[in-house]
Amino acid sequence: MSRTAVISDIHANYHALCAVMEDAFNVERCTEVVCLGDIVGYNAFPGACLDYIRQLECPVVKGNHDEEVANPSGAKMNPIARLAMEWTYDQLSDEQRRWLSRLQYQRIVRPYGATQNSFTIVHSTLDQPKAWSYIVNANDAAGSFTRQFSQLCFNGHSHVPKVYMWNGRAAAEDYDVLHNLVMEGYAEIQPVAGYKYCINVGSVGQPRDNDPRASYGVYDSDANLVIIKRVNYDIASAQAAIIEAKLPEYLAERLGKGC
Ligand code: ZN
Repeated sequence: MSRTAVISDIHANYHALCAVMEDAFNVERCTEVVCLGDIVGYNAFPGACLDYIRQLECPVVKGNHDEEVANPSGAKMNPIARLAMEWTYDQLSDEQRRWLSRLQYQRIVRPYGATQNSFTIVHSTLDQPKAWSYIVNANDAAGSFTRQFSQLCFNGHSHVPKVYMWNGRAAAEDYDVLHNLVMEGYAEIQPVAGYKYCINVGSVGQPRDNDPRASYGVYDSDANLVIIKRVNYDIASAQAAIIEAKLPEYLAERLGKGC
């Protein structure tokens, strides 16, 4: 049996990461983990989150924040993100930054013990993984689908859970899944043969869909089922740590609003 926890955009939020992993291992009985990048940036525990992910020895792909901290390019970034980036740089060792710099942009993952049902992981898009473009509508998804050779692809980057389907000709968004997630904090996707899926599991450490709870996914390859769910965590402690670290106050505020 293989149940894989799919986690993305942790962004140095150690409280959220611990709550999600506790849920993944003890409630969802996950046996595997994949990480879709942006382990660091914005919040107060980049080193602890990085160490946590590394000790899992799981497949990880690189996010734009991981890349910028590992090899600062001075790329255009909003001023608050830039401040947090510079703070994060100082928190990490050369060795930790080197580890981030070596991450791949995309990977094919085969669930443990399975001979089929390999899936793809990427932080942004499969057609331009290094350009860090966002998939925010079906048109954006269509471009990525042209480069998707597995039935399922999991991505992150926008911090907003979304599900897109591709029938070989056109892409469409599955709004029902999102409706369930908003109403119940839980949604199931049962992939249908003949379709490809691009699934954004939302963000562990900085959700931006107006729900402050952490978001992550579970893929059960035997049951052919994907779950996206929300998990409560100690937001107040994560906010206090941001203030304590003298990171921009807005980063604490937004955690409370989920934006
Ligand atoms: Zn991110």
